[in-house]
Amino acid sequence: MPRTYLKKALKTAESDAAAVTGIVQTILDEIEAGGEEAAKAYAEKFDRYDGNIVVTRAEIEAAAASLPQKLKDDIRFAHDNIRRFAEAQKATLSETEIEIAPGFFAGQKIIPCQAAGCYVPGGRYSHVASAIMTVTTARVAGCQHIAVASPPRPETGVHPAILYTADLCGADSILAMGGVQGVASMAFGLFGQPKADILVGPGNQFVAEAKRILFGRVGIDMFAGPTDSLVIADASADPEIVAADLVGQAEHGYNSPVWLVTDSGALAEKVMALAPGLIDSLPEPNRASAEAAWRDYAEVIVCDTIEEVAATADDYAPEHLSVQAENLDWWLARLKCYGSLFLGEETTVAYGDKAAGTNHVLPTSGAARYTGGLSVHKFLKVVTWQRSSRDASKPVALATARISRLEGMEGHARTADIRLAKYFPGENFD
Ligand code: NAD
Repeated sequence: MPRTYLKKALKTAESDAAAVTGIVQTILDEIEAGGEEAAKAYAEKFDRYDGNIVVTRAEIEAAAASLPQKLKDDIRFAHDNIRRFAEAQKATLSETEIEIAPGFFAGQKIIPCQAAGCYVPGGRYSHVASAIMTVTTARVAGCQHIAVASPPRPETGVHPAILYTADLCGADSILAMGGVQGVASMAFGLFGQPKADILVGPGNQFVAEAKRILFGRVGIDMFAGPTDSLVIADASADPEIVAADLVGQAEHGYNSPVWLVTDSGALAEKVMALAPGLIDSLPEPNRASAEAAWRDYAEVIVCDTIEEVAATADDYAPEHLSVQAENLDWWLARLKCYGSLFLGEETTVAYGDKAAGTNHVLPTSGAARYTGGLSVHKFLKVVTWQRSSRDASKPVALATARISRLEGMEGHARTADIRLAKYFPGENFD
């Protein structure tokens, strides 16, 4: 496929994956063996924190009192949007029942996971919005117990805005515990938590890997590691806005890829010329993160046609996909692999990240090939049931016995035989 790389990444998400797996497995093993003391030791090691782990009601109230009212209003505004979107999503899933044959009924029920563990990242930035995205969605789903774990600052613990937000959105408990030790504490049921049935929330490569390793013992939302973003732009796009959007997402961290894919070489050149100046104008340490991400992970790709642009975007399967091009309906219909789609210049990734209503916990590192982002559905189990009259069960029993015997499963066949013999005495079923 004809793609010209005006800029190619020096590193990819896979570059240091093996080392991360080893580190995370060791920490998980030590915490599983050593329990709360081992988790606390890691909080001291990585976050230089030795304060109390389970946040108290008094600490939550003090945190709320310390925040400006305007910020609390903004958090409430965002919470309201995310809650209403989650409620609308929940309404799309329904319990159902059909009569497969006269007298034989089959149905599905929707049952929420009981204990949800929500990871709220807080190493570099205080991801207040992640508390809204995870806790609100678990609450709308109907989870019985919602735990939050978030990294503490050395002297002051979890950021007050994260405490306020997690409490507002419905968290039942908050642990001042970040990284792998935070994930492990929720999965293993430390510090008085019920063992999480499902772990959700974004985080750095250590957090994402811990969830990946634990998957199976516990449910997870998806692989949601370091953020990545792709902008599709054509000649009609504003290069200043495209460049600002790419740099804005590169700010996430030194390993957050941003990609521009376009059918306009002129647009690509303009954006590449503008980006370094925008990066330099950021305050530290954001500037350093964006500079490293742009240098090592960013790509600028020029394609011959818009079909090639779309195919390239699908190959990358980005977490965030922004389209700043003409004919948005064509793009909406054509694009197939992304976590969340931002159509047109009037919306941007940061809107979805903070306040618009759609969830910001999204698949990274190509996981958008097979999954969408966090939604109320991730907390809901779609389970099935069946019930039958004796007469209606007869053809099912006969078919079951024959299929079982073909498979060599005599014990299965006999569970049908015994019912046929008792319900229909004297009948010959050979
Ligand atoms: P974080 O809370 O994810 O991680 C901080 C923790 O990392 C610390 O508590 C510490 O325990 C642990 N840690 C640090 N260095 C370690 C090491 N060498 N070994 C083991 N553990 C270590 O916060 P962060 O680091 O700022 O990362 C947040 C991440 O979340 C970013 O990568 C961002 O892109 C991502 N994010 C993703 C999404 C999404 O939906 N995919 C949304 C928001 C944020």
